Amino acid sequence: MKTYDWIVVGAGITGAALSYELAKKGFSVLLLEQNKAIANATRFSYGGIFYWSGTTELTRLLNTEGIHLHRILSDELEFDTQFRELDLLLTIYPGENSEEIAATYANCAIPPRLIGVKEACDLEPLLNPQALAAALVVRQGIINPEATVIAYCQAFKRVGGCLEIDRVLELLKQNNTIIGVKTASQIYHSANVAICAGGLTRPLLKSAGIFAKVYFTRAELLETAPTYLQLQTMVVPARLKRLQLEALASTPEIEKLWDEPERELAPPILDAGAIQLLDGRIRIGQYSRVFTNHEILFDSTNQLKSQEEITAKIANILPALGNLPASWHQCLVAFSPDRLPCIGAIPGWQGIHIFSGFSSSPLGMVPPLARRFANYMATGEDEILPLMSPARFLK
Ligand SMILES: Cc1cc2nc3c(=O)[nH]c(=O)nc-3n(C[C@H](O)[C@H](O)[C@H](O)COP(=O)(O)OP(=O)(O)OC[C@H]3O[C@@H](n4cnc5c(N)ncnc54)[C@H](O)[C@@H]3O)c2cc1C
Repeated sequence: MKTYDWIVVGAGITGAALSYELAKKGFSVLLLEQNKAIANATRFSYGGIFYWSGTTELTRLLNTEGIHLHRILSDELEFDTQFRELDLLLTIYPGENSEEIAATYANCAIPPRLIGVKEACDLEPLLNPQALAAALVVRQGIINPEATVIAYCQAFKRVGGCLEIDRVLELLKQNNTIIGVKTASQIYHSANVAICAGGLTRPLLKSAGIFAKVYFTRAELLETAPTYLQLQTMVVPARLKRLQLEALASTPEIEKLWDEPERELAPPILDAGAIQLLDGRIRIGQYSRVFTNHEILFDSTNQLKSQEEITAKIANILPALGNLPASWHQCLVAFSPDRLPCIGAIPGWQGIHIFSGFSSSPLGMVPPLARRFANYMATGEDEILPLMSPARFLK
């Protein structure tokens, strides 16, 4: 019976990057992903690398490491992640206080610059000037998230890793030690299991009686086919309601409701934004909802309503996008209560680690943190990983 050094559950950006870095360090690694046709948060993400956004020493360091790594990742992985840099426009609406909103970004490593409606429309000619009061602008990185996962997975296999399409049904326990996993087709043994299951991290751990402060929102978005329209920038609201929703859904009063079935813990929010991929597809988002049931499915009436509402909201800001045919999608997105990821061994358990809950600049921070995690496992040394340990919530 083969025993892997590591089993990694989930091949979104977190699991793909972590598996590659662990295998590169010489560990034997099995990466298990439940779906051949990927429909996860990474697949539907906008791909923004918000390297300007760090507000603490720790997040500035991670964003700096992240952008340096992204700039060389295609060469290292020998596959084009479609990395480029472009302007991010943070939209401010009539009735909102531009100066007050700009001040909320003043502490960022590179604070976005407040601009008027004309300059915003010069940068992004598809914007509707009537819908805006002002905007903030900052340079940021963009990747194609699907391409980046493919790049990591191919490089992982080249350095000896094993990737299987198989769903983990159960974590195998011996007392308080996790010794492997049971999948739909077989049992795999390992010295360590890393949970990188995105929004499904919480339910998977819970099914084994393991609790971690990682939660999930359900995102809904639209995606067009490649189009002749050209978005010059990435557009999102300056006042992101998703962050407020995550904060609300992890307050102590709401937190205790997460174990109740079939609860909606807060009213849904809609942050109207859009990004165009290099192949011409446009992603338009996004609704975020907080249901305690990760399996909840929308019927066609609810889907249609959600699609119409996202379309109406984007049509006000970027009118040309409102006329494009688009398909509706949903996925789960993990987050933690303090916006720092949960990384490391789970207190009270042996053989089980978490690498999830990234909500502040996930795509930017995952590559450097995956590298640090693998290095830590090889050497036992890293000065910042303990700051992101799930044990921090026990203090
Ligand atoms: C519309 C939208 C826009 C976004 N824009 C940005 C952005 O611009 N910049 C940014 O940094 N972030 C952005 N994000 C957030 C970012 O995409 C996610 O935080 C990140 O991709 C999460 O990666 P993950 O690996 O944790 O999860 P996922 O990508 O969801 O991957 C988890 C994987 O685990 C697998 N899995 C789960 N359970 C099991 C099991 N039991 N067995 C086997 N496999 C399993 C799933 O099938 C899935 O493939 C956006 C998200 C959305 C929805």
